[in-house]
Amino acid sequence: MNSNYDYRINIVLIGDSGVGKTSLLIRYFDGTFTEPYNTTIGVEFKIKTIEMNEKIYKFLVWDTAGAERFRAVTRSYYRGAHGIMVIYDVTNQDSFDNLKIWIQQIQAFANDNVNIMLIGAKSDLVSKKVIDTETGEKFAEQLGIPFFETSSKENINVNEAFETFFKQVGTRA
Ligand code: GDP
Ligand code: MG
Repeated sequence: MNSNYDYRINIVLIGDSGVGKTSLLIRYFDGTFTEPYNTTIGVEFKIKTIEMNEKIYKFLVWDTAGAERFRAVTRSYYRGAHGIMVIYDVTNQDSFDNLKIWIQQIQAFANDNVNIMLIGAKSDLVSKKVIDTETGEKFAEQLGIPFFETSSKENINVNEAFETFFKQVGTRA
């Protein structure tokens, strides 16, 4: 074997345009946040290698790179995913209502045993918040998936969300 890892795992980010997917990726991997951010710019993917239980896990975390604007995320994006982070913006009702559609797409195109996590992004915008924490929690509970409210701007819960998900997906790999 010429690979330097035991498992190669794809994590994908989905959710409406503008909810903060790219910012979340940049905050976790680069430790930065820039505002205002040009939402048409995405990153393709970022890589994190982690050792757990004496195995090397190589996580590739994929951004939709703008395709979500037309809900044109390709089936192969879902099909190749071991984990899917579904993201809404706590200040944007539509982005929460559209979770139904994103979940339907996962059910239609992703592997049956795919791991899913729900993220309520932009938790720092307290005065503009329209989706309260309990509403997000309830939605996640119905699906039986973990839930975090995060702020890429203030660096709140970003590491916790990714690390929890890496552990979960890695354990089931
Ligand atoms: P994407 O289209 O889902 O990739 O969303 P972006 O990451 O491009 O973010 C869309 C806009 O929301 C940008 O103007 C970001 O600066 C802003 N944004 C993203 N995350 C946060 C956050 O945690 N807090 C605040 N206040 N703004 C954010
Ligand atoms: Mg983006």
